[in-house]
Amino acid sequence: MSGKKHLIYNPEKECMSRDEMHAWQSAKLAETVRREYENVPMYRARMDAKGVKPEDIRTVEDLKYLPFMEKTDLRDYYPFDLLASPRSEIVRIHGSSGTTGKPIVSGYTRNDVDVWSEMMARTLTAAGCTKDDVVQVAYGFGLFTGGFGAYQGADKIGAMVVPMSSGNTQRQIMMMQDLGATMLCCTPSYATYLGETIREMGLAPGKDIKLKAGCFGAEPWSEAMRVRIEELLGIDACDIYGLTELGGPGVAFNCLEKDGMHINEDHVIAEIIDPATGEQLPYGEKGELVFTSITKTGMPMLRYRTHDICSLTDKPCACGRSTIRMSRITGRTDDMLIIRGVNVFPSQIETVLVKTQGVAPHYMLVVDRVNNSDTLEVQVEMTEEMFSDTVGQIENVRRYITEQIKSVVGISAKVTLNAPKSMPRSEGKAKRIIDNRKL
Ligand code: AMP
Ligand code: ZN
Repeated sequence: MSGKKHLIYNPEKECMSRDEMHAWQSAKLAETVRREYENVPMYRARMDAKGVKPEDIRTVEDLKYLPFMEKTDLRDYYPFDLLASPRSEIVRIHGSSGTTGKPIVSGYTRNDVDVWSEMMARTLTAAGCTKDDVVQVAYGFGLFTGGFGAYQGADKIGAMVVPMSSGNTQRQIMMMQDLGATMLCCTPSYATYLGETIREMGLAPGKDIKLKAGCFGAEPWSEAMRVRIEELLGIDACDIYGLTELGGPGVAFNCLEKDGMHINEDHVIAEIIDPATGEQLPYGEKGELVFTSITKTGMPMLRYRTHDICSLTDKPCACGRSTIRMSRITGRTDDMLIIRGVNVFPSQIETVLVKTQGVAPHYMLVVDRVNNSDTLEVQVEMTEEMFSDTVGQIENVRRYITEQIKSVVGISAKVTLNAPKSMPRSEGKAKRIIDNRKL
């Protein structure tokens, strides 16, 4: 237990008994399936093909009879053919990158915007936010859900919102100081960059910078990265998870125990499946995360395959919430790299790099195929001290990283140490992989 004080936005919902939750989820699921069957021809056809009728779905256990939905469905039925409400009821559109050049889009009713705001209010409260806080939102505002999600949640709490959007780092830091921001919302890669810049400017967290906590997500990050951000900024760094198809950020969130992310189960039902067979897996086992939205009305998602890999647990949490938790996302079923037959998750390499003295966590993985054999190059930036190395440590650091990757991931990689500040900085989601094999 962390011994931290836990704030809960909606105890009635977040702490309900498991029996109450089961009854609530079952009723909402049945309602959503009926709505979908009546309004979305594509899903009706898919249920008919499986011989499943809406009245067959009565409890959470019946979920397994329903057909899956995929990101490709959002592409194939782009932009509005998955709407389960009339077009006139849609008040917002958000989007995210699809499997082709076009984005995938989701339509929100007023209800959906409210549900999402509630989920984000819970998320921020769990990180310690109250109406007395100043919340700096450095997620991008636009089709991407990060900026609006954080704004809506903080607004619902009644905190003072500073909607900076991403980028313009010097200005971010100036406003952070001038307005006394206490909470920060952005991607973990941008939090790292902000933290480093703050340190370089000679500003002291706790004195010049008043931040106490941050909600960071929208991209994979490691536990080591989380600890580094906490040190750099002197804050509690909480992981938050979400995806456009389910509304956006706030689907699940860390409480201050930071031991898994509480799922907003009164709004979504989570399952873990074996990605190869589609069979449900028990709590504790790693597999593909599948979500069913049970309160969304604009574009409900039934058994939506996220391709994100994690596990679930129903072990009690010290914060008092009764909701199940999902582990950190350890990779994806689709862009997991397979290099010389070995499954490689960028997060494994990130953990090695963050733990290594002398390099900064700005890196790129370059995969290629030379003479029919896959190659992996790990490019990482040296710190200033290492770069001006006078005692000949650089070669040792390079060798150390190579050995660590070999032992953790199981494959040999070429490690390239780049000069400080030479690699691209990210203000939104970081791009960490260049796979030249696909070209
Ligand atoms: P988007 O809808 O564009 O915001 O992308 C959603 C995807 O971002 C998810 O399916 C995950 O792959 C990734 N993502 C979001 N939050 C997290 C997080 N906290 N940790 C790891 N991956 C995340
Ligand atoms: Zn908790």
